[in-house]
Amino acid sequence: MQLSSNNIPFLDLVTPHVQLEAELTEVFHKVTRSAAFIGGRLVEEFEKSFAKFCDAEHCVGAANGTDALRFALIASGVKAGDVVVTVPNTFIATSEAISQAGALPEFIDIDEKTYNMDPAELDRYLTERCEFVDGKLISVRSGRPVTAVVPVHLYGQMADMDAIVALAERYSLFVIEDACQAHGARYFSRKDNKWKTAGSIGRAAAFSFYPGKNLGACGEAGAVTTNDAVIGNTIRMLRDHGQAKKYYHDIEGYNGRLDALQAGLLSVKLKYLAEWNAQRREIAVGYNRLLHSAAANAVTPFEPAWSEAVYHLYVVRVKNREEFQADLTQAGIGTGIHYPVPLHQQKAYAHLGYKFGDFPVTETMAPEIVSLPMFPQMTAEQQKLVVNTVAASTSKMAMAAAAAL
Ligand SMILES: *Cc1c(COP(=O)(O)O)cnc(C)c1O
Repeated sequence: MQLSSNNIPFLDLVTPHVQLEAELTEVFHKVTRSAAFIGGRLVEEFEKSFAKFCDAEHCVGAANGTDALRFALIASGVKAGDVVVTVPNTFIATSEAISQAGALPEFIDIDEKTYNMDPAELDRYLTERCEFVDGKLISVRSGRPVTAVVPVHLYGQMADMDAIVALAERYSLFVIEDACQAHGARYFSRKDNKWKTAGSIGRAAAFSFYPGKNLGACGEAGAVTTNDAVIGNTIRMLRDHGQAKKYYHDIEGYNGRLDALQAGLLSVKLKYLAEWNAQRREIAVGYNRLLHSAAANAVTPFEPAWSEAVYHLYVVRVKNREEFQADLTQAGIGTGIHYPVPLHQQKAYAHLGYKFGDFPVTETMAPEIVSLPMFPQMTAEQQKLVVNTVAASTSKMAMAAAAAL
């Protein structure tokens, strides 16, 4: 076991900002000299270029990803009392946005290989746990109407959208993508025989630009993409106190705007996003190959042929995670867990009444997952050190397990 301190961070946010310091500082000067802090050209320019990047017709900036998802749900037509279906293996912002749009989150299990929404489980939910009452699809569990599905493109890989969209269409539900971890991820639609980008498929999609995301602001920011102009305009109002014209409020909205400084900084970084994503993909390929040849006892991520993931996170599965993580920490290697407690087992959701055993795939993976260091600037040398430490730790544990027999 290597005990020297390697100092490999889980995520290096300093290097890219130092590299781009001149360009980023220029934005700050632009904003201070115009004092256009909220809205204006910088926001519009970023929205235009991000829509293009996502292959979507419209983009509306928001204060953060949670606001973006809440606005996307409300503008798409989620009403108070509705049920919105999502997965328990995600960050709590997904279900917060659903609840705060006035709806009730109901969960379905994930696929054991991709860790994303399992379309077979969605099918089972719709056929076995819902019934039609007066032509309306009603959840048996809550007695409420089911109106939307939120697949989460977790860890940078898209959910199996063809299958999810087909089910949604059959049951007249709409699909809102949680693309907060998947800027630039692509999906090959067998139905349409072409590659599609995250944020271009659902009725609307939410992105987060939290600093650690593949595209991160220097603070908080988010955005919605949509191909529906009406939804786009509704979100423009929702984020700005429900006004289309200053002080004339057509609806009650929120303060959820993207500010000009963050938009300008994001425009600078957006130019590098495709390259950073390609670097992440290369690092993932390297991890897969090295972990395999080191015979490390870790399950590596699964990328189906229809997926081009952007590896927001590189997540492996190991037995004895605590010991594994401690070994890496001791060797000076940063790790993370995304996420240690599935949503249905969170204290905040005790009132939803789920119990252990409800989502076996999610519950089996949750204690085994570990996110290894992943950032575009990671060097081959750093990666080798991580892999050697992973292999040393897992083989030590495999030997201990064999000796105990
Ligand atoms: C980051 C994230 C969000 C929320 O984004 P914020 O900008 O932090 O509000 C939502 N869903 C997922 C899956 C995320 O990873």
